[in-house]
Amino acid sequence: MEFKTTCSYCGVGCGIKVKKGNDNKVHVTGDENHPVNKGMLCSKGMNLHYVVNDQSDRILYPEMRWSRSHPRERVSWDDALDRAAKVFKSIIKKHGPDSVGFYVSGQSLTEEYYIANKLTKGFLGTNNIDTNSRLCMSSAVVGYKKTFGEDSVPISYADIELADCFLITGANPAWCHPILFRRIEKHKEENPDVKIIVIDPRKTDSANFADLHLQLLPGTDVILYNAIGQYLIKRGMIDEEFINKHTEDFSAYKDLVFSTSIKQASKLCGVSEKDIKKAANIIGASKGFISMWAMGLNQSVVGTDKNTSLLNLSLITGQVGKPGSGPFSLTGQPNAMGGREVGGMANLLAVHKDLQNEEHRREVAQFWGVNTISEKPGLTATEMFEALESGKLKAVWIACTNPLVSLPNSHQIERAMKNAKFVVVQDISFKSDTVSYADLVLPAAGWLEKEGTMTNSERRISYLPKAIDPPGEARPDVEILCDFAQRMGYRGFSYNETSEIYDEYASMTKGTNIDVSFLNYDRLKNEGTFQWPVPEYRHQGTARLFQDKKFYTPSQKAKFNLPVANHNKVLDLDPDFPYILTTGRIRDQWHTMTRTGKVARLKTHYAVPVLQINPVDAHLCKISDGDITEIKSKNGVVRVRAKVTDDIKKGVVFLPMHWGKQLQSDLNRANNLTNTLVDPISKEPDFKFTQVSISKY
Ligand code: SF4
Repeated sequence: MEFKTTCSYCGVGCGIKVKKGNDNKVHVTGDENHPVNKGMLCSKGMNLHYVVNDQSDRILYPEMRWSRSHPRERVSWDDALDRAAKVFKSIIKKHGPDSVGFYVSGQSLTEEYYIANKLTKGFLGTNNIDTNSRLCMSSAVVGYKKTFGEDSVPISYADIELADCFLITGANPAWCHPILFRRIEKHKEENPDVKIIVIDPRKTDSANFADLHLQLLPGTDVILYNAIGQYLIKRGMIDEEFINKHTEDFSAYKDLVFSTSIKQASKLCGVSEKDIKKAANIIGASKGFISMWAMGLNQSVVGTDKNTSLLNLSLITGQVGKPGSGPFSLTGQPNAMGGREVGGMANLLAVHKDLQNEEHRREVAQFWGVNTISEKPGLTATEMFEALESGKLKAVWIACTNPLVSLPNSHQIERAMKNAKFVVVQDISFKSDTVSYADLVLPAAGWLEKEGTMTNSERRISYLPKAIDPPGEARPDVEILCDFAQRMGYRGFSYNETSEIYDEYASMTKGTNIDVSFLNYDRLKNEGTFQWPVPEYRHQGTARLFQDKKFYTPSQKAKFNLPVANHNKVLDLDPDFPYILTTGRIRDQWHTMTRTGKVARLKTHYAVPVLQINPVDAHLCKISDGDITEIKSKNGVVRVRAKVTDDIKKGVVFLPMHWGKQLQSDLNRANNLTNTLVDPISKEPDFKFTQVSISKY
């Protein structure tokens, strides 16, 4: 039997064919007819069947403990969900609705996200629902909203083959979005005049393929983009007609970028004037300019500014809404986009409606048949765990994510989990470090074991069928959440089919900029994937937004924002912690390794985490290649072997973010070191600038 589905890892969203044998084992291959990957899969995708076929780590039954002094024991689903409902009701009665919260995931399917959001905001009466997408995309969301008026990725992967200049910044797609990068490589191989610029403090595989690598100092991105903007304006390499007709606030932007000379910018960024001008000349000469970025921009205390300053470059060059051009945020998770669409964050409402807008709150409340939606913004990811630590938040329900490894400042997360009155963890694997803190563990169905939809980085919605039964008593996440909601006494959660949840969400989008009201499971199953919006009967989806140059702002003009150029608070280093730690992914692992960590062949690239350190810094710290190295910050300690390499800029060190306690030891966990400093608007934490000391252990 063969099924077509979508890869469950990164936001590229590759199509996969799944064959199921008589022994119930599955085998995966790339779907050669899929518009995204045309049959290709990266190392993670092509090994997905090992993850599905090895069920040794699966959570099979609900487990519960009656108190922290008792071990957890197997219980029935009735006992588990009755207890959850009883505890939530009693906490809400005593402390109010804002004393409970949900922490969900960019890996959740759209229907799961929608139900969790409806349950929390519509019925529990709190906006305390946030997601691990906060750690990944929230700065990009704010950037798009501030520039275009709404969270809207303007372009498609199909624009890659039409572009002649790529600015890849704060991202290593060669490792983290490999199939997308393969399309860029192929395009350049076939069109040698295509130019690639990479901006990154590390010499990554993406940088090695580039025509120009600007190895900037971490945290100085805004200064660099503004310097490029200044040079483009000086040389007249801008689209004045586009600026005059379709944007606002250009003159303030111009004043800002001219307030720092290119010479000063060069000093601040650690990039030569010659290279800044070279990059600007390539961008200015291009006919199709695409900027691509990921965590290097988003995960920063100035993440919003980094995003808007990069988007400004698309505006001055008029490279938006036309073939082969536009800004393109790369999502790290398979359904971070779907989550944004259903409003699965503490400050958002479903279908891109605004929590701060009274009319929008009223519309959503009316749609769900509830009296009101609270106007108080909910706790964001880091705020939620701070509130658990302080005792303000009493109960948390964590679904499909492993905050003990992925959130910054792991020791604080441990303290928060210990201090919580009630922790529910809904997951597939006992290998998640978070499970050990749960009072109630709920076994969830995994990839191929349930149906639903996801949206990839280019707004492409895919249907994922159920191909195999979940093991033991595991259930689909929507079923668990709807069952809980009904035990809480809420109406509006009795669906017969998952398609009914999708239809409810789709009808809510009618008339909005993300209208998919003419899309349903039948069309997705029979006709394949669609890029939103799909606003009419028989509409085939929308590859590119803003072709009419009408943006979603009140004036319909795109807006230049004024990111602060020279004021980067994190630039003053503490002499006791003189190195800048940046964390990130490695090629063959994904997130906290609960799945990719099960596949032996994915460990041949990196079996254990290592610290990348520049030879000059290694010499100063008396560290040789392979030495065990102690890295300290104000928050904790990590001990790993050093890899001495000039792939990293002097003064900067790199640690992979994947390893946690269960897989190695808590001394390998990069987030022991990171801190909970966040961007003031997007509330996204900064994983790219932690001050550390380094010594030989
Ligand atoms: Fe999966 Fe991303 Fe690899 Fe494609 S590029 S196979 S979506 S991990």
